[in-house]
Order: sequence, then C-alpha cells, then structure tokens
Amino acid sequence: MKYIFVTGGVVSSLGKGLTSAALGALLEQRGLKVMLQKFDPYLNVDPGTMNPFQHGEVYVLDDGAETDLDLGHYERFTSGPLSRRNNLTSGQVYDSILRKERHGDFLGQTIQVIPHVTNEIKARLDEASKSGCDVVITEIGGTVGDIEGLPFLEAMRQFRLDHGAQDVLFIHVTLVPYLAAAGELKTKPSQQSVAKLREIGIQPDILVCRAEKPISKEMRAKLSLFCNVPVKAVIEERDVEISIYEVPLMLEREHVDELVLAHFGLSHLKQLENGWENVVRILKYPAHTVDIGVVGKYIELQDAYKSVYESLTHGGIANDCVVKIHRIDSETLDREENIQKLAGLDGILVPGGFGSRGIEGKIRAARFARENLIPYFGLCLGMQIATIEFARDVAGMTGANSTEFDEKTAFPVIDIMEDQKDIADKGATMRLGSYECELVPGTLSAAAYATPTIRERHRHRFEFNNKYLEKLTKAGLRIAGKNPQRNLVEIVEVPDHPWFVGVQFHPEFQSKPRKAHPLFREFVKAAIARRKES
Ligand code: GLN
Repeated sequence: MKYIFVTGGVVSSLGKGLTSAALGALLEQRGLKVMLQKFDPYLNVDPGTMNPFQHGEVYVLDDGAETDLDLGHYERFTSGPLSRRNNLTSGQVYDSILRKERHGDFLGQTIQVIPHVTNEIKARLDEASKSGCDVVITEIGGTVGDIEGLPFLEAMRQFRLDHGAQDVLFIHVTLVPYLAAAGELKTKPSQQSVAKLREIGIQPDILVCRAEKPISKEMRAKLSLFCNVPVKAVIEERDVEISIYEVPLMLEREHVDELVLAHFGLSHLKQLENGWENVVRILKYPAHTVDIGVVGKYIELQDAYKSVYESLTHGGIANDCVVKIHRIDSETLDREENIQKLAGLDGILVPGGFGSRGIEGKIRAARFARENLIPYFGLCLGMQIATIEFARDVAGMTGANSTEFDEKTAFPVIDIMEDQKDIADKGATMRLGSYECELVPGTLSAAAYATPTIRERHRHRFEFNNKYLEKLTKAGLRIAGKNPQRNLVEIVEVPDHPWFVGVQFHPEFQSKPRKAHPLFREFVKAAIARRKES
C-alpha cells in the first residue's frame, strides 16, 4: 500500500483537488487501483449545512454522504467508488473522540491533540489500507500555516515515520505568482510555504507550481534550491486554456507519474491507455457548439453548480460538441425583456436549490422552455419547478406551489415527504444517497438510459405529491420513472415537446468526461437538434 499526501500553500483555490484527481487518473492509467480522499480541517461534521457562498456545491455519494466538491473531481477523473469514509473533517474527529471519552474508553488519561487527535486521523488512514487499492491519495484541505490544519500535518509526519519514506510521498501544491510590475514570476511565497512545512517536519518530495506563465529553467533551479526539492521534481502546472481535463496531460508532460512511480519503486509499470487526449481534442475542435442557459441563484459563484457545469461539458463531449454555458440569475427573470432573451438558447437547465429566493423566475424559465419548445432539463428543484409550472399553466391549478415556498397553497403539488415532517436536526437528515428508479417504457428517459431500472443519488426533503398525480397526468404530464419501494415520482416529462425532462435526483453526480450521463448526453443532443433547426 502506497500513500500520497497533497498539501497546499500560499493561497486557497489552487486546484489541489484537481491536481490530486488528475494524478489519480495518471496512476490508474498505469494499472494501479487508486483511492482518493479528502481531509478537511474545519469543525463542521460535513459540508451539508454550509451554504454555497461558504463552500460551493455539496457533493453527494451513493451512500448518502454529503461531502466536499473535490470528491466530485475524484469521481470524475478516476473509477474508484467513494464512501463517507473518504471525507474526514475535524468535526468528525472531535465528535468521535468526545464520544469515546464520555464512554470511558480513555479512562484515566488526559485527552490531547497529540496523540489522541493525530491517532484518530491516522486510524482513518490505516482503514484505507483495508480497501484493497494500491495507492491512497489524501488531499489535506486548507493552506499550510492554518492553525486548524496543524493536527492533520502532524499526523502525516508521524505516518511517514511509522510507515517509512518508501511508501509515503508528499506533494505540495503552491503558487508562483506573476508580478506584472516586476515583469516576473516570484518564488518567495513558495519558499516560505515550504519552510513552514519543514518546520513541522515535512519535506515535500514534489513541488507542483501553479503559474500563469511558463516557469523558466532558472526559476526551477531556484525553487529547487530554496525548497530542497530535486529540480526534476519542480513541476509546472499552468492555468488551463480550454478545460480542466487538460490537467492529466499537463502533469504527464512534466513526468509527475514517473516521479511518483520511481519513488515507490514501481517504474516497471507501463502506461496502458491515454483516454484524455480525445476528450481535449473534442473540446478544442468540436463539430458542434450549443448555448445552454443554467437558471439559478448563485450564478456569480464558480463552484455552486460545479457538477452541473461539468456534466454539461460531458454531455457535449459525447456529442462532439462544446457547450457554452450561460449563467442566468433567476431573479432577473421577473422582467419580460430578460425572459425573451432565453429564446436565443438551445437548452435551458434549472438545477437544484433550496429556499424561495428566485423561485418565480425559475418557473417562468420552465414555462418559456415548454411553450417555445426549447429543450428543458430540471434537476431536483428543477423537476419540482417544472411540475409547479405544468400544474399552474396546463392543469389549471392556479397558485400551485411547493409547500417549501408557500405553506398555504391551494394546490401543494410538491410537498414535504411524510418521513421528513418530524425531523428537527438539519445535518444529514434529508433523503440522501442512491435510490432505485423504475423507468416507464416509451419515455425519453427510458430511451436515454436503455435499461429498465436505474439508481440515482438524491438530496431533498420535498417530493411530487401523489394526491395530484391523476389530475396532472390527465392534463398531459408524463411520469417516466418511479421509486418502486415508496411509489415516489422521480421523473416527469412533457410530451409534444422535443425534450422536456425533470428528475427528482441529481444525475450530475454520476457523469464523467469519458462516460457522460445518459440524460446529459440526450439533453445536449436535443440542443444540437434545436440549433440546427434555427
Ligand atoms: N428544496 C428542494 C427539496 O428539498 C429541492 C432540493 C434540491 O434541489 N436539492 O426538496
């Protein structure tokens, strides 16, 4: 079992998660079984209770774990399935220790950061060794120098001492900023960040340098000298031009995979395939281009709908197409001239969401898509929105709504699930994780999946209200998928429309660049068809 630890220096948002995932992809290409995980130093038990401004998207796993969005990168770049054991937070560490303390497991002892907290962290690493994989890549959240990250770094230092350097590798991702006024790249922040690591007793083996300009030979030599890293282990990772899926190729050109294999004594493993070139080729030279609007309320945030944006790109790749994403603020759709602008789009997508802000704008967008025959894809809240719109405008239920937004609505076509009514705690209490859905033959969804039963991931408290099932289907709404165990409507479609699908689940958590989710693939295909017509 080999262990790689990835730390970050200088600033946050360096793309440590992407770098880790891309390295995972390169190691998989050598035939290794790779597992990626993230250790987050914050005190929340999981990110499920944080808002998108704080944390970006909450990524949901099959087992219902609400995790950091970097786990999304891990799943998109590699094939190893992840579970709640792959995202550890300080909150979980302390929660577990304090339970044990109350239980009396440490009777007589003083509970301390070293060894109790560090032991708890190391125990999680040891657990990974039972997973049957060859390499575990653990990304440490935050930036070196953060107070709350210290116990994690200390645990890593001890871990290398326990296991020996031959099985443990440290990668430090750092920033080499370009100062326009000086007209040059600066290495000092990286020097200081590595000095901070060495203070704790960690010497990085590989330095991944994020830079917007090429790093010269001289610069590499300087970084090598001051950071005590061999010059060939000073890796340049430039800002990508086209897509994040260039990162594996970029790291490969810098021979990161060879360095890692050499460190572990695995240099004999030859590359089996290289699936990334084709992905990048399509994104650079696509046969088609489409414009798709994503109507949400966090449009200014890069990360709030991360998996949705990625999945649209995947749907494009599957169709030799580049998807140009237009982020549309649903709150601006109260103005008619803004609604009319939607006519220029080839597809409209309404992603998941919570709370009433911007809801009416999303409903208007769904109506515009339905009436103007623009392909529509609704995800979770986007499916509820489509149902409300159909109830109001086609089935004659004026004022229909979800009880999330209007508790007194005359037509609660979306309502809180029975088993959610008495839940008071907010953390990890939604309908979460993977559930079965049976597809109805002859529907758009059944055609896309080409299989009668599917499993998809959920994260919601409200549901299609079966009390209105008959009324809505009589008015023409098509039910395309149901959860057989609880008879819950999971997919709605609008017939007499090129492509109008709303799903109660989150297909964006199961799409990959080299294997697009079927619904995203078909949505983009429908958008291409519309583009050709107009
Ligand atoms: N707010 C809605 C619910 O809780 C939708 C949730 C979502 O889109 N993830 O049911």
